[in-house]
Amino acid sequence: MVSLAFTPLKEIPKVVQDLHDTFQSGITRPLEYRKEQLKGLHNLVQENEEAFREAAFLDSHKPPTEYMISETGTIRQECIDAIKNLDKWAAKKPIKTGLINSLDNVYTRMEPLGTVLIIGAWNYALNLLLAPAVGAIAAGNTVLLKPSEVATHTAALVTKLLPVYVDRRSIHIVNGGVAETTVLLEQKFDHIFYTGSGNVGKVIMSAAAKHLTPVTLELGGKSPAFVSADVDVNVAARRLAIAKFFNCGQSCIAPDYLIVQRGIEEELVNRMRAHIQEFYGASVQTSDSYARIVNRNHFQRLQKMLEATKGKVVVGGETQESDLFITPTLVLNVQPGDSLLDSEIFGPILPIMVVDDLKEGVAYVNKGDQPLALYVYSRNFKLADEIVDNTRSGTVVVNDSMVQFVIPDLPFGGTGPSGMGSYHGQKSFDTFSHARSTVVKGLGMDQFNNIRYPPYTEKKMSW
Ligand code: NAD
Repeated sequence: MVSLAFTPLKEIPKVVQDLHDTFQSGITRPLEYRKEQLKGLHNLVQENEEAFREAAFLDSHKPPTEYMISETGTIRQECIDAIKNLDKWAAKKPIKTGLINSLDNVYTRMEPLGTVLIIGAWNYALNLLLAPAVGAIAAGNTVLLKPSEVATHTAALVTKLLPVYVDRRSIHIVNGGVAETTVLLEQKFDHIFYTGSGNVGKVIMSAAAKHLTPVTLELGGKSPAFVSADVDVNVAARRLAIAKFFNCGQSCIAPDYLIVQRGIEEELVNRMRAHIQEFYGASVQTSDSYARIVNRNHFQRLQKMLEATKGKVVVGGETQESDLFITPTLVLNVQPGDSLLDSEIFGPILPIMVVDDLKEGVAYVNKGDQPLALYVYSRNFKLADEIVDNTRSGTVVVNDSMVQFVIPDLPFGGTGPSGMGSYHGQKSFDTFSHARSTVVKGLGMDQFNNIRYPPYTEKKMSW
């Protein structure tokens, strides 16, 4: 196991000040400079793909194909899109005006915010750090990255390689845990972009409030998947199984629990069992396609949840702490109030709630916090619309799960306790930009302005 060197606490204020100074120097403003940095970021990921894959394997046994799909592939695509579209995204946007301003030049100009802090989470440790950085760099900011200290190997590798590919004066890394992040948060930033749990999200937001720093919070929650009795059960089972057990269930938008219309629950469980076997073979533990729980704390948290459930474990349920291994697990007939419906699971355990009418599920979802994602599986798009119309969530997918994260131009983010703000594609650029409203007037024809100059005569009032 590689050890991750934390940044000495006393160095942190200077690192941040240096980034502010770099921003003030203006070097990040030209679009060509930004594109160079984005190319560097792209090459960092492309040329070291294998090393990053190995690091993620050491962090949580992440299968290489999952790594490519969910981490390096999307970061590279974000870089390519940003380089291709930067001129368009950064262009002045003319604003329509009335007669009075018809001779003026009125527009918004997309300006960098300044120095921004990006704090990543461990479950997609490279993606959640570098994908937001693409938007921040494209928008012309100086950027401080704080990788998750939980994904040690990934954090150590990105720290070593980043300065080889990008300008360290404008893009820098600080490593550490709570103590280092606390010192970081005492510094003044122009924006903070945080991915992680809601509890820490509150810490971030209150620290940001002291400087009136705006935040983007990419948080989690309990994302439900509704399964209607009219669905193609086999297809739904296959898509749900891969979404839930990808990265061993450690995805912020994994289906957290199912709300299944009574009558199809047994067939759904049987089909999911068959797909789990098809994906991972008879012995999941020896499969190269199945990840592990990231550490002992999370393992024990999940084990406790599983031990406390009053539902019936119908698939899986085996755990082995020494290997941080939990089998893909389905728990049937889970009722409101169960340990598995209490907080976000973030692991390979899928509780199934059975309802007579999906409207009961809608009422249940609406009693809780707005989730990051909501899924509906049905042949009936009207029914799906009805469920979507009557609930709230950060994102929605009908008849699939998790795909919303990898559609380059689809903004991604939560609502309410699942987060605020969004990113990906142009939305990332906008998140890290200020649309500066601008009016440029000539000095001629000042008589058109007479009405606003005192004295305010009656004649002016009747104009
Ligand atoms: P976490 O909140 O424990 O850690 C994330 C980051 O916060 C790390 O960099 C860590 O160093 C820092 N941190 C931890 N405690 C801190 C403290 N007290 N003060 C300051 N900083 C602190 O989250 P996690 O366990 O890494 O991630 C799991 C959660 O994140 C889940 O709820 C999941 O749904 C959510 N998540 C959301 C997204 C998304 O895109 N919306 C993506 C991944 C994970």
